[in-house]
Amino acid sequence: MAARRVKLANLRWAALILALLAGLALAWRYAPEPVARELFRQSAAVRAPIFGARIVATLDRGAQSFKTGEISSDDIGRLLAIVSTEDIYRMTLRDNRGRAFWSNRQSDFGATSAAAPLVEVMHTGEPYFEHLHAPVSEVLGWEGPAAAETGSVDHAGRDVNHQVLPVTLNGELVGTIETYQDVTAVNNAWLSTIRWTVGVVGALISALGSAAALRLRKAGLARAADSLALSKAENEFLSEQLRMGREVRLLGDLNEWLQSSKSLDELFYMVTRFMSHLLPDISGSIYVYSNSRDVLDGACSWNGGVHKAHIHPEDCWGLRRGRTYAFADSEVKFLCGHVHDEHPKNYICIPFLAHGETVGMMHLAAPDGMSGDDFTARRKLAQMCAEQISLAIANVRMRDELHYQAIRDSLTGLYNRRHMMDTLRRRIETRKAAPFSIISIDVDHFKNFNDNHGHDAGDVVLRAVGEVLAAACNGNDIACRMGGEELMLMLSDIDHATALARADALRQAVSDLTVRYGDKTLPQITVSVGVADYPGHGALPQDVIRAADEALYAAKAAGRNCVVSASDVVPGSLMPLARIEDDPGPMTLAAE
Ligand code: GH3
Ligand code: MG
Ligand code: MG
Repeated sequence: MAARRVKLANLRWAALILALLAGLALAWRYAPEPVARELFRQSAAVRAPIFGARIVATLDRGAQSFKTGEISSDDIGRLLAIVSTEDIYRMTLRDNRGRAFWSNRQSDFGATSAAAPLVEVMHTGEPYFEHLHAPVSEVLGWEGPAAAETGSVDHAGRDVNHQVLPVTLNGELVGTIETYQDVTAVNNAWLSTIRWTVGVVGALISALGSAAALRLRKAGLARAADSLALSKAENEFLSEQLRMGREVRLLGDLNEWLQSSKSLDELFYMVTRFMSHLLPDISGSIYVYSNSRDVLDGACSWNGGVHKAHIHPEDCWGLRRGRTYAFADSEVKFLCGHVHDEHPKNYICIPFLAHGETVGMMHLAAPDGMSGDDFTARRKLAQMCAEQISLAIANVRMRDELHYQAIRDSLTGLYNRRHMMDTLRRRIETRKAAPFSIISIDVDHFKNFNDNHGHDAGDVVLRAVGEVLAAACNGNDIACRMGGEELMLMLSDIDHATALARADALRQAVSDLTVRYGDKTLPQITVSVGVADYPGHGALPQDVIRAADEALYAAKAAGRNCVVSASDVVPGSLMPLARIEDDPGPMTLAAE
């Protein structure tokens, strides 16, 4: 666009200079003659009264001669002298009736003229001037061929000043003096002067014009170049602004999405999608610390990046130094252990720091051919992304932790009562709820562990029993600590007999435990167990739990370390109809 403007400006300047030159040529050719004529007319108008007065003064009788038409021979001699010195080839003195009483042309003597100029002068009293081109023969004819032989004759014609001057005597117009003066030489001098002037002035104007045009053109070019440079800079600035605007918007979106992620898997899916838009030409991967914190697990990667299943913290200079490590920046550089490129590219490892803790690391690698500067320019954005991802990971983890704490028992790690109740309620609320069994467990004489070995020993016992319960769970089963030394197991989709068998296996596993506390081995741990089914023993969770608890009390009453089914509980009696215990077999019913 700007280049086109420059071209147009050049064309305009060239046209202007051409027009100027053409104008000068025309002026040189056609202007001098009218100008010379006008100059001559003006000069003649000034000189005419003097000339007229001189002629009159030449005559012995002055203006009276015009009145009388008489002229002396002396007059004629002086008149002829004037005529020859003034290049006047024809002069006629007339009286007021137009009769020539003297002329240097013989043929004019005595003739009366009523030519328009004469009439006009006699009428107005004003001198008359006329510039004529007269044939050479007329102008020089009477002088003989001598002048023609000089070669100076303009054979195209002669410039002639024809003038008629009034002669007055005491305010009365008494006659006229008519002269035809050969002004060719003077006229040529005028023309030459004017042409020179036009030429010089024209050349000056052209030179100045060209110089000005050149300067203006240069200025125009400079301005155009400036405007080109400016528009380029403007474009760059604009695209930079657009890019930044897009990045800010994407970062805002990323932040919003990350905040709403409910799990780390969901979070990493979002990160992958956003990072491939935010840094589209840069490959990347993310590692997060495992719960054990001895390794980092590969979480996700994008744009052709790959992540390993695990890396060790000491394999990454970013993690080891606790700050971003840029491989290309340092003159002396060390490759991270987790990078196995034969020709390592520029890369950065940005540790994820959140709430004063390192939660992971983002590894970004430049593509082949990307300059170090370009890669560095993307670093700020990468850093901002890393900050958001760090916080999001930490937040999801904190949310997970809080949720875990909210539903878990801190001592045993089993679910807590509230979670168990919520789960049972949800199950029963769904139509066609699958059957389940509730196994209610209570540690026998647990108080004795506290009393004899201390509260901590009691805790150790609870943890050991909790581990047995956790190990007994499959699939959708839930183990929980209902409170104190009372525990519960919910077994999904099994019949009552299987539930009883699994309850007894659990009882057996607890009684087989050998628990050490300090340098002592604690006494054998036993549990009493009650088993009830949904929907067999209740339509609501609390009904089934109550049935299981009643079976548990019955097991206590039946001597502890045994399993009692809710079906064997006798209403109004503590003793069950049957219990499951050790010997003589896994499912022996023993009547009390
Ligand atoms: P039974 O065989 O009849 O169940 O006798 P028991 O001693 O187990 O029952 P009891 O209800 O008399 O005693 C339970 C004790 O458990 C009382 C309480 O101090 C203790 N206890 C409750 N919660 C905890 C706990 O978290 N840690 C420890 N160490 N003791 C607890
Ligand atoms: Mg107990
Ligand atoms: Mg108890």
